[in-house]
Amino acid sequence: MNKIYLDNAATTKLHPEVLDEMYKVMKDYYGNPSSVHFFGRKSKSLIESSRKTISSLLNVSPGEIFFTSGGTEADNACIVSCIKDFSITHAVTTKLEHHAVLHTLQNLEKIGIISLSYVDFNSDGEINVDDLNSILSDNPRSFVSIMHANNEIGTKISLKEIGDVCKNHNSIFHSDTVQTMAHYDFNLSETPVHFVTGSAHKFHGPKGVGFLYIDGEISINPFIFGGAQERNMRAGTENLYGIVGMSKAMEIAYRDLKKDKEFITSLKNHMIIQLKNNINGVCFNGIVDEDKSLYTILNVSLPPTELADMLIYNLDLLGVSCSSGSACSSGSNTGSHVLQAIGCSNERAALRFSFSKYNNKKEIDLVVKELSKLFI
Ligand code: PLP
Repeated sequence: MNKIYLDNAATTKLHPEVLDEMYKVMKDYYGNPSSVHFFGRKSKSLIESSRKTISSLLNVSPGEIFFTSGGTEADNACIVSCIKDFSITHAVTTKLEHHAVLHTLQNLEKIGIISLSYVDFNSDGEINVDDLNSILSDNPRSFVSIMHANNEIGTKISLKEIGDVCKNHNSIFHSDTVQTMAHYDFNLSETPVHFVTGSAHKFHGPKGVGFLYIDGEISINPFIFGGAQERNMRAGTENLYGIVGMSKAMEIAYRDLKKDKEFITSLKNHMIIQLKNNINGVCFNGIVDEDKSLYTILNVSLPPTELADMLIYNLDLLGVSCSSGSACSSGSNTGSHVLQAIGCSNERAALRFSFSKYNNKKEIDLVVKELSKLFI
């Protein structure tokens, strides 16, 4: 059996056109973008044209995009800088956030800079907007961080709905959009959000590069000190070929968005049907409705089995790469904080399958066939 890659929420395969573009830059553009001579200017112009491409895809101005080393840095930078610069003393988040957000906020709480509230959600991971409203009524001018779509269970929020609640309470809204960037259309100048984040390797771009969008209405102080790169905000010689690769990957993703989204959604729906037809008692963690769920992720909850801890390894031996996401792995406490938070049973194994345009229905059928053999 050929290898089947169904772990696209962890990272994606580089698009060949992106690789070509990056190769050209690595070969021919070696000037330091901060140098004023010909070679430097040549490199600098690539950075600025990449910024223009990305900002126009998101309908914002180029000055609102800041390149970073990825999603984690972008999340950390805006959370820490914004809370410090605006002397914010209260933040709101959910227990479902990626650790890039959760651990950053929890550390600020630990060192006494903020107090932290967690918004309620239901067993599908849907945010209770009334609870957010009531927390913010008691704590206006908070910093709110709620992710656009969950990286383990795929449940999505409406940025407009949450953003409007934040706006009504004069609060600052950050959303980790790492899993949705370049998978959905964004019109950020019309969306009530102050910060969003992107990471190229989640949309067939290179690893180690991402960006932070900062709404032009607010400004924060530099978050990495040193040289004058990124308009003094983020020092350090730019990852030139990474930035160019990210901009190319994003261009391709938006060019093909409608077609790819339809195709990937059909793969996910196919897997849902095949799993239900072939494994008794299978169900899904998080929402699977198309408009409330990320189309690239399916988190499968499997009936109790003695093989639970070994599922991921058994699948790997069969050539299938996916992620495990059990609420608790026996003998360790390294289970998924997201599945624990939505109350998944420890007895059921969970597998996260995440799709891309490079998958096909035949692969899904093979995976379901192999998986179902373990549940006869
Ligand atoms: N936020 C979310 C929701 C993610 O899924 C990830 C990566 O898995 C990150 C942040 C971190 O991004 P990066 O790998 O670019 O640091």
